[in-house]
Amino acid sequence: MTQGIINKVVVITGASSGLGEATARLLSEQGARVVLGARRLDRLQALAAELGLPEGAIVQMDVTQADQVRALVDRAIALHGRIDVIINNAGIMPQSLLDRLRIDEWDQMIDVNIKGVLYGIAAALPHMQAQKSGQIINVSSVAGHKVGPGGVVYAATKHAVRAISEGLRQEVKPYNIRSTVISPGAVDTELPASVTEPDMAAAVRGRYDKWAIPADSFARCVAFAISQPEDVDINEILFRPTVQD
Ligand code: NDP
Repeated sequence: MTQGIINKVVVITGASSGLGEATARLLSEQGARVVLGARRLDRLQALAAELGLPEGAIVQMDVTQADQVRALVDRAIALHGRIDVIINNAGIMPQSLLDRLRIDEWDQMIDVNIKGVLYGIAAALPHMQAQKSGQIINVSSVAGHKVGPGGVVYAATKHAVRAISEGLRQEVKPYNIRSTVISPGAVDTELPASVTEPDMAAAVRGRYDKWAIPADSFARCVAFAISQPEDVDINEILFRPTVQD
């Protein structure tokens, strides 16, 4: 098991923008061997060029497809022979009031935010169990701690991520595998663009314009959790802009 960050093999979903991109940048600068997945290949290619990643370190994939998440993890194993960390980060937030009946968007949030995390766990766990080491980092939200109008389904998915992370922790500790959940507040990313209902989009935009902090705030939390000694599992980090409600 590699201690600290240098040479650690870190797989990140949703690395084409926002929190995932900022984390790829920081960890790569600190010597981690990152393997990055998302749907937008052009964005991944630009990031790989900027960071000087080796051939094959980016994978076009959709987290709603279990086989594609497995292919991302398999790429890390093929390139580096192991996986030390997976960051199940990909997520969407198309908020709306329940009576708008945006069932299509409820389904998408459940597929990306919950099933995507579970597929990441499914892909990484067998390797980590065999290695008897590893760390699974799931991304929840302040919305994983509280619920508000318009954010019901999103909050439900993020509550689920916290439940999954805690249950996972209890099940995998015999294998020396760490489970960490990170719950950010408003961070300046492309996330508000996933809100399609005009009134909700304006409300979310207003909150982000007032509060949002840079994405490296999240990346530093990840670096802190990863760099702990192997016998220390940072189970949960909740952070938000100082001025946020
Ligand atoms: P962004 O919209 O900037 O990034 C989301 C990332 O997820 C993109 O890289 C996107 O890539 C990827 N993604 C979305 N759907 C899929 C999919 N089906 N398959 C693969 N990748 C997908 O937002 P953030 O960086 O803010 O979001 C990252 C995580 O942080 C999310 O889980 C979000 O819920 C959480 N979060 C964010 C907060 C914030 O204020 N920004 C606050 C709390 C939590 P692509 O489109 O190329 O596939």
